[in-house]
Amino acid sequence: MSLDTHTCDVLVAGSGAAGFAAALTAQLAGLDVIMVEKEALFGGTTAYSAGVVWIPVNSHQQVAGVSDTREQALTYLTHHVGNRLDRAKAEAFVDNAPAMLDLFERERFVAYTLEPTWADYHPDEPGASQGGRSLVPDEYDGRKLGGWFPSLRPPIPTMTAFGGMMVGRSDLPHVFQMMQRPESALHVAGMVARYARDRFTHDRGTRLVNGNALIARLAVSALRRDIPLWLSSPIVELYSEQGHVAGAFVARPDGRVLVHARRGVVLACGGFPGSDELKRQVYGHVAAGKSHASLPPPGNAGDGLRLAQSVGGMFVEDVDQPAAWAPVSLVPQGDGPAIPFPHFFDRGKPGYISVDRRGHRFVNEARSYHLYVPAMVEACRQDAEAEAWIVCDHAAIRRFGLGALGPAPMRIGPFLRGGYVKRSDTVRGLAQACGIDAEGLEHTIVGFNEPAQRGEDPQFGRGSDAYQRFNGAPDHAPNPCVAPLATPPFYAVRVIPSEIGTFAGIATNAQGQVVDREGRPVPGLYAVGNDAASVMGGTYPGAGITIGPAMTFGYLAARHMAGAVGQKIFASA
Ligand SMILES: Cc1cc2nc3c(=O)[nH]c(=O)nc-3n(C[C@H](O)[C@H](O)[C@H](O)COP(=O)(O)OP(=O)(O)OC[C@H]3O[C@@H](n4cnc5c(N)ncnc54)[C@H](O)[C@@H]3O)c2cc1C
Repeated sequence: MSLDTHTCDVLVAGSGAAGFAAALTAQLAGLDVIMVEKEALFGGTTAYSAGVVWIPVNSHQQVAGVSDTREQALTYLTHHVGNRLDRAKAEAFVDNAPAMLDLFERERFVAYTLEPTWADYHPDEPGASQGGRSLVPDEYDGRKLGGWFPSLRPPIPTMTAFGGMMVGRSDLPHVFQMMQRPESALHVAGMVARYARDRFTHDRGTRLVNGNALIARLAVSALRRDIPLWLSSPIVELYSEQGHVAGAFVARPDGRVLVHARRGVVLACGGFPGSDELKRQVYGHVAAGKSHASLPPPGNAGDGLRLAQSVGGMFVEDVDQPAAWAPVSLVPQGDGPAIPFPHFFDRGKPGYISVDRRGHRFVNEARSYHLYVPAMVEACRQDAEAEAWIVCDHAAIRRFGLGALGPAPMRIGPFLRGGYVKRSDTVRGLAQACGIDAEGLEHTIVGFNEPAQRGEDPQFGRGSDAYQRFNGAPDHAPNPCVAPLATPPFYAVRVIPSEIGTFAGIATNAQGQVVDREGRPVPGLYAVGNDAASVMGGTYPGAGITIGPAMTFGYLAARHMAGAVGQKIFASA
């Protein structure tokens, strides 16, 4: 039986931010595009994410009065990334990301709002920004997807309220203050009312925020432009002609087909967080047999890596960290395996500390989640598990919640009964409930509380920079990140390592082309997003440093495939 064949200019594997950016840019340049997605749902990890992009010197900054320059951004990357910085790729990113964003906003592929006070994660380093490089996606109406809405990957269930209501980054200040400010109560009431209405007609809320809003907007743009999006259709093997990648075999639900791609194939398969084998190979704590709970969807199993290696591509393991880390708690589900919840915000708020099983603090909890995990792994080097507990008092939990348990008026009882959160009237009792050394925890809390009354944290200096303060409680003085744990009962939740995406990946050049050991491009093959080795060298300089580059290199790869004709189109756009 002969193989069914299809022909296009550009074949894109993966429907996350990187894949859609490549597909839409190629289509704008007049190329025929086919997108294929392995899973039955589109959107990948991007749909789970906050959708934030890190884009220095973006045009929103002028309106907001933020000053930034190419040189400052490159100084920051040079200083922070160090020897692993690929200068050509870093420059390609910084020079092209603003144009990509302008173009995508003009075409209404995306819509973003600047967070002018969201500082870089290392704001005291040379060239760092005190705010203005991170942008948050605007909300979007999922109903615009029509019949495609059920195929949009929904957010991680533990990150929604009432089993399907999304809460965005811009909603959070309202959620935290709904009991104090009437405007915030009104905002939250509006969200709930919309959700209640939605549930008459849909399985979940259609007010999309974060990465769901980003992906929905990209997908509506692609569908309106008649870009075919094949679901449940992984690329399984590359097809080469005379040393060129000229297409790929795709396993469609109705059988294997060959897709000829005249200009190239783009691997945007989202890295390897779904591959146990690769995680054992490059994550130290996993190699040591310790627990790990990945956040990205399981289909991101390193397919892009395997495919690139099959034609001479190279796996770059020499990165500062192999993945973008985040601590997660495991939220029990009555009828299935526990679901991880990423602790992005609560750790560094006033009234919280993190401790190891000895009851000792091991990190400045208000710094980035990416730094928290290696510190936890190091603190637990001699232990059977890499684990920690986030501990807080009653005042804190009612104001800010604890992991998947939201702030008041959310009920604490169900989370206690399910075993997710531990509670005790005394610090000693809490330690015993968690299996933490009781004397150690008592000693730590007494030692923390005394200077905390003055807003000080002599051990780790919590609240000492603009990023930490941005994530603290703006109305808490004198230090938005520090308060004593003084109001019983006390609470704790256990966290273990996780990743939000992988940093180790395929070697690529400034155009997103896959390169071999000698740095020569593999003709016809591109890798973008988390399939490519991190342009940040495995470091985490600021919010949005994976999706910003994912979209920029998707855009650059497509421009490269469009060649001279395409360049003319972009020059006049
Ligand atoms: C909770 C959370 C919050 C986050 N917030 C942010 C944030 O705000 N900003 C930020 O920059 N980063 C954030 N991240 C990280 C970010 O989501 C990822 O780094 C990014 O989305 C990766 O994009 P991608 O396009 O490379 O891959 P993905 O979005 O994961 O898409 C890859 C797609 O490829 C598909 N695929 C796999 N194999 C094949 C194959 N063989 N053929 C076809 N398709 C295939 C997958 O099924 C998947 O749909 C967050 C992550 C999480 C989990």
